[in-house]
Amino acid sequence: MTRMSRRAVLQATALSTMALATRKVSAQQTRTAASPSAPLPPRREFVIRGATVLSMDPGIGDFASGDVHVRDGAIVAVAPRIDTAGAEAVEGRGMICMPGFVDTHWHLWTSFLRPFVRADVNELGYFPVSGRLGQLYTPEDSYRSNMLGIAEALSAGVTTVHNWAHNVRSPDHADAEISAMRDCGIRGRFAYGPAAGMPDDKPMDHEGLARVKRDWMPGDGMLTLGICSRNIGASIGGATRGTLTIEMAKRDWGGARALGLPISLHTSGASPIKVLDEAGLLGPDLQFIHPLLTTPEERAILKTRGVSYSTAPTGEARRPASAGVIQLGELLEAGVKVSLSTDHTTNYNCDPFVAMRILFALHQHRIGDKVPVTVKRLVQLATLDGAVDLGIADKTGSLTPGKRADIILVRTTDINMAPVGDPYEALVSLAQPGNVDTVIVDGRVLRQANKFTALDHPKVVREAQEAATALRAKAGWPAATPQRG
Ligand SMILES: [Zn+2]
Repeated sequence: MTRMSRRAVLQATALSTMALATRKVSAQQTRTAASPSAPLPPRREFVIRGATVLSMDPGIGDFASGDVHVRDGAIVAVAPRIDTAGAEAVEGRGMICMPGFVDTHWHLWTSFLRPFVRADVNELGYFPVSGRLGQLYTPEDSYRSNMLGIAEALSAGVTTVHNWAHNVRSPDHADAEISAMRDCGIRGRFAYGPAAGMPDDKPMDHEGLARVKRDWMPGDGMLTLGICSRNIGASIGGATRGTLTIEMAKRDWGGARALGLPISLHTSGASPIKVLDEAGLLGPDLQFIHPLLTTPEERAILKTRGVSYSTAPTGEARRPASAGVIQLGELLEAGVKVSLSTDHTTNYNCDPFVAMRILFALHQHRIGDKVPVTVKRLVQLATLDGAVDLGIADKTGSLTPGKRADIILVRTTDINMAPVGDPYEALVSLAQPGNVDTVIVDGRVLRQANKFTALDHPKVVREAQEAATALRAKAGWPAATPQRG
């Protein structure tokens, strides 16, 4: 890898401030040159015409037939009819036009572990596989896994992703993950994490964190930075993510907060909420993941402290009953911020429609009308509420003039959708990623007519396959898993 040799050269020479700056540019340039993508498409001026517009902005509302004007990457206007001279028209008839989905927790680095993970063999479950193989990852593996995951995200209409990167094994691994996010043109937060398998008593790399903030966060609104914390106390997935004492959490989190960076934590298993509150560690810069076992007292604490919760319904629904239930109704009733996430895609897909559908089904099954949840609210959870959770609702999450143009068009004429009545009902009950026709991020049309405009899809798949094959050989992993029964 050219980039690695460049880094070695820089390390061999004295690292001046200038050299560090050069390294960042070099990394990006080399990545871009070596990446499977063509350069990102330009930000054009256009008007989406005649779509069913769901703005998710209560001040604007929805239009059975409406136009959305985009210029220089921003939304200029949303109205039943927009007269513009010279702007290209994008056909919106037969489409739902809505904000792109905001996915608030996804371990993108695990995306190509699909050939190793089995749903019906505990030893080959997601945690043991990612915990073991993650320790063998090269930066190139991180890059290729991220490319695969982000390509799937975009295909499903996700325009913002919170990349929960808990396998930052070196500065190059961090650079590789962020490079993939940049190369794909997706918006997101990079959550800098520990490395799989690192000792629990070793502090996180705050120097590396500060370096990423300095080198990769130009404040252009596309990427933001945070940290993903190791678990507090024993909990599910601890072997993969590590486990911290409260004293270690104060150290890890304190370093992030000193840099003004938000924190994300998995809480599945024994709840750490009260002990964290007693330690004075809860605040609105904190996101929890997997709301399965909270008590009324804990939910009141979360509301008071402004802590949000991300639920990943597709994965959570597979957990045993002892792991708890998705407490959507309880959280909404308590006034806790909630958002939706994919978690990982090793043995299911990124499908925000299915996530909404499962969330709604389990809510109806368990609580139903005791805490009414509308289909529109589910779409809001998957869009605007995700942007609120990630602190970027000024940029994305709704079709609001002045926000960046993160927009998707969902075909309503496909066989699984037509004829569409209520568009929210169709999105929650009927839609699937294949209906997502067009995906626009920051005004760039990244997908049109179900095809990438720049990203080389076959190459992303081939390189992920090659990396998985090489990892299997390196790990001495069996060629195939015998079938059970
Ligand atoms: Zn997770």
